[in-house]
Amino acid sequence: MNYFPLFADLRGEPVLVVGGGTVAERKIAPLLEAGATVHVVARKLNAQVRAWADEGRLNWVANEFSDSMVHDVLLVIAATDDETLNRRVSRAAKAAKRLVNVVDRQELCTFITPAVIDRSPLQIAVSSNGTSPVLSRRVRQAVEKCVPFSFGTMAQLAAEARDDVKTALPDLARRRLFWEQLFDGVFADYCAQGRLNDARRELKQRLAADTPPQGSVCLVGAGPGDAGLLTLHALHAIQAADVVLYDALVSDEVMRLVRKDAEKICVGKRAQGHQVRQEETNRLLLEHARRGRRVVRLKGGDPFVFGRGGEELQVLADAGIPFRIVPGITAALGATAYAGIPLTHRDYAQSVQFITGHCRADGSDVAWQNFAQNNQTLAVYMGTIRAAEIAAQLIRHGRAADTPVAIISNGTRRNQSVISGRLDRLADLAARAEAPALMVIGQTAALHGQLDWFGKRD
Ligand code: SAH
Repeated sequence: MNYFPLFADLRGEPVLVVGGGTVAERKIAPLLEAGATVHVVARKLNAQVRAWADEGRLNWVANEFSDSMVHDVLLVIAATDDETLNRRVSRAAKAAKRLVNVVDRQELCTFITPAVIDRSPLQIAVSSNGTSPVLSRRVRQAVEKCVPFSFGTMAQLAAEARDDVKTALPDLARRRLFWEQLFDGVFADYCAQGRLNDARRELKQRLAADTPPQGSVCLVGAGPGDAGLLTLHALHAIQAADVVLYDALVSDEVMRLVRKDAEKICVGKRAQGHQVRQEETNRLLLEHARRGRRVVRLKGGDPFVFGRGGEELQVLADAGIPFRIVPGITAALGATAYAGIPLTHRDYAQSVQFITGHCRADGSDVAWQNFAQNNQTLAVYMGTIRAAEIAAQLIRHGRAADTPVAIISNGTRRNQSVISGRLDRLADLAARAEAPALMVIGQTAALHGQLDWFGKRD
């Protein structure tokens, strides 16, 4: 069965609540907030309900319930612990064609109340049609996380400007497009930052259309693959983007969360494809931002860890394009966590280094003696091709040949795999590893055997 959802204007409307205890209190609070005129029928009131009565915020009828009480009200709520009384209230209300809610007794109700996400004046109501209030509450929690608090501000500013917009744009379709574009633009960023006057100015300018819309770029870390590792800022940014320039490293699972009608441009190496040159990526960023679009530059892991994020931002800064940065979980944190390999451990590793195997061909720029020290973990990015050389150099500079190693492929993804072994076998192990792969070198790599949890899923 499906309920008919509706939002009721209860300002000044009479509502009858039978019961004056805690359960009644929970029902009365939102009614008062909605401005209803609440009549409470109960012999006794709890402290809060009594306080409301004393403050004159509700009308206390200290009598027994009688059927005729339902006649002059719009809604009836039964919230007593007396089963027979609740039934009587329900029956009387139904007979008088009043909407009635009996707390926790769905079969006695003609209406139920949803779980609410409040971004006043925006309200989001969730219901499982009474099948599982706990599930509704969970949905509410999930929605709480993904609806930015700034939506309330946006709705409020929209209400302020509503009449002006209606006058300027009498055509409904054009008006709708105006709002869509406004909410997708820098107006939303201003609201999120609490810059209300800038937001109002932006709205006026868009309405007068006397300046081109301001574009912006958000450099976002997509994390190593599991979409659950995105930050809330990252999620909000990719759901608001007009254009997403993404790397091959960004997982399909994350890409599925990008706004459906956003333009998606892959600028990284895919299995069969070719890699877009860095200059081309920079050019695309500038071009789209200059066209007034909200651009997200989405990068695997964290944009500032072996990600060239800094270089791209320098180009934007030089061109005067506004940008912001959302960090992500870098592979060395994500992949090791999902493989059960602590980067530090009081007994085995007091420090960790993130290094890249992608260094100059002669290796002259690498301080191998620093990397070869005991009691530290090395997390090697882009290292599998150079595994033989890396292992040889570390052993030559003093790291034990039997130091544990692990190679984590597709870290945090469903197809994550971990190959374990010892340092002097690193090249063989790396040859078997699928890309992308992170090499972990150090005592803690051996803990994978004991602490693996993600590999146990079916
Ligand atoms: N900015 C990224 C790193 C880019 S360099 C970050 O912060 O994670 C690319 C290298 O990162 C790959 O060669 C691999 O070594 C590592 N990497 C990225 N994602 C990975 C994953 N899901 N599993 C294992 N290694 C990964």
